[in-house]
Amino acid sequence: MSFTNEQLERYSRHIILKEVGAKGQKKLLESKVLIIGTGGLGAPAAMFLAAAGVGTIGLVDFDVVELSNLQRQIIHLTKDTGKHKVLSGKETINEMNPDVNVVTYKEWVSSSNIIDIIKDQDYDFVIDGTDNFPAKFLINDACVLSKKPFSHAGIIRFQGQTMTYLPDKGPCYRCIFQSPPPPDAVPTCKKAGVLGVMGGIIGTIQATEAIKYVLGVGDLLNGYFLTYDALKMEFRKVKLSSNKNCGVCSENPTLTGLIDYEQPQCELKGN
Ligand code: ZN
Repeated sequence: MSFTNEQLERYSRHIILKEVGAKGQKKLLESKVLIIGTGGLGAPAAMFLAAAGVGTIGLVDFDVVELSNLQRQIIHLTKDTGKHKVLSGKETINEMNPDVNVVTYKEWVSSSNIIDIIKDQDYDFVIDGTDNFPAKFLINDACVLSKKPFSHAGIIRFQGQTMTYLPDKGPCYRCIFQSPPPPDAVPTCKKAGVLGVMGGIIGTIQATEAIKYVLGVGDLLNGYFLTYDALKMEFRKVKLSSNKNCGVCSENPTLTGLIDYEQPQCELKGN
């Protein structure tokens, strides 16, 4: 694969980096990243991955764009209101970077489709951009069982958190949080609110993890939990250990299949 003149110019600031170079940029153009949820986290993650030249981006979401999304879900424009988010996201990405092939999945993830979606393009890395615990546990378990690296994240109010799972290299999300809280025990962004930039900060960290994974450079957030408090303007990085009794990633897992946990009644939407 050789670069066109347009690509040499588009990616010149990457190619000049010794950690990326022409070789790394080619890796990015050949890479495939799946983003589950095209909302507060998924929107900025998708835009930076597209700008970086990730060759294939999968977008999973069943939701349509609402006006109340636009305060943070920057991949969607006012004219997109009422349009399916995956289509709106695809249009924005296509306009930004024609090198990117966008694959859309107009559906919610569940135990019956998530493995097939991950396998569909043999994605290299998965980004969890969802806002509810059932989806987060489902994505974790599906990625552990499929041996796919993924980035978990969550945002609410002025708080954000993220961690990265790499197969056989540190804990999974279930090692830390054994099971979801009861439905409606934890408020959603719709009820509690979220500062618009939270998704931008945390979603961009998720994109950074995906890019570094593809390039094979630096240290990823596997084995660490990164929290961000926007009011205090404070990042904290906490070391994590694998749970030897983890239901899904331990040597003797008790969960061998995927679980569709009960969803909170108020909403199922991406944050
Ligand atoms: Zn685990």
